[in-house]
Amino acid sequence: MSPIRIAIVGVGKIVRDQHLPALAKNADYQLVAAASRHGTVDGIDNFKSIEAMLDAVSSIEAVSLCMPPQYRYEAARTALEAGKHVFLEKPPGATLSEVADLQALAEAKGLSLFASWHSRYAPAVEAAKAFLASTTIRNVKIIWKEDVRHWHPNQEWIWAAGGLGVFDPGINALSIITHILPRPIFITSATLEFPENRDAPIAASIAFSDAQKLDVSAEFDWRQTGKQSWDIVAETEAGEMILSEGGAKLSVNGKIAHDEPEQEYPMLYRRFAEIIKEGRSDVDLSPLRHVADAFMLGRRKFVEVFYD
Ligand code: NAP
Repeated sequence: MSPIRIAIVGVGKIVRDQHLPALAKNADYQLVAAASRHGTVDGIDNFKSIEAMLDAVSSIEAVSLCMPPQYRYEAARTALEAGKHVFLEKPPGATLSEVADLQALAEAKGLSLFASWHSRYAPAVEAAKAFLASTTIRNVKIIWKEDVRHWHPNQEWIWAAGGLGVFDPGINALSIITHILPRPIFITSATLEFPENRDAPIAASIAFSDAQKLDVSAEFDWRQTGKQSWDIVAETEAGEMILSEGGAKLSVNGKIAHDEPEQEYPMLYRRFAEIIKEGRSDVDLSPLRHVADAFMLGRRKFVEVFYD
């Protein structure tokens, strides 16, 4: 089969760090063009907008949309209307309803829409899911604490409404937990801390439960300096499970059960090629739904102003 002719839209940090290297190593794709207001990719045709790109390069079959979530819907609709398969960076959109609208459009057009969740493809996630399925879970704690100044310098969109604030990394934890737990969970209470000068939270404490009253909690904090934490700790009948380093490493009762190099973006692109071949979409909105629920149910606390 000839490679899928793909284009990238929104050339920024994640495109350079992950999308370009993953595409370069995958023979299922040929990267043919990019559209970005300022960014460019060497060796291919570059355009200032998705409209100009799709007009000029009619052979494009799929697009990866990598701009911030607040600006993704219009580009996704344009691409689907033009008959292209669409890969959405996480989070798939700024609202649940706009993504549902894209899902319906993709379905009507017979195109594949992929709401990618890169952390679900972290190396130890499947092993954690299998371990939890093999035992009885007593409680789960999610600890996702990082230094926003280090990881998101000068990213204004992340602090704007729809940018999600600390839920931008936190949704990665939610994408893992919704995949590895045996039953769906739901938020029972939350406190969101907003810097007085920002429209998105810098920290969040969340309590979840499920049909069997499982106690799940999450602490998201962007003010962490020093050691960073991207951990999920589960107390179970078979002992303590720690899924650490954002899903890269699994230990059970202190013994390493799984530790291998990450391949998240190569696996995302494999999955996208697979759903295109199968003629279907892959859109799980549960991580974004939890974020929406946290904004809906959460208490709001104002905290110290934040400047980069
Ligand atoms: P970024 O570098 O700040 O933004 C990506 C590109 O989007 C920018 O270079 C810009 O390109 C375009 N853009 C910015 N504001 C825009 C606007 N108002 N309208 C249209 N385009 C705009 O962000 P990023 O870190 O790559 O993140 C992009 C997405 O990937 C986010 O949803 C994020 O959650 C996700 N992601 C990021 C990481 C990470 O480590 N950074 C990891 C995984 C997933 P032009 O100015 O050239 O148009």
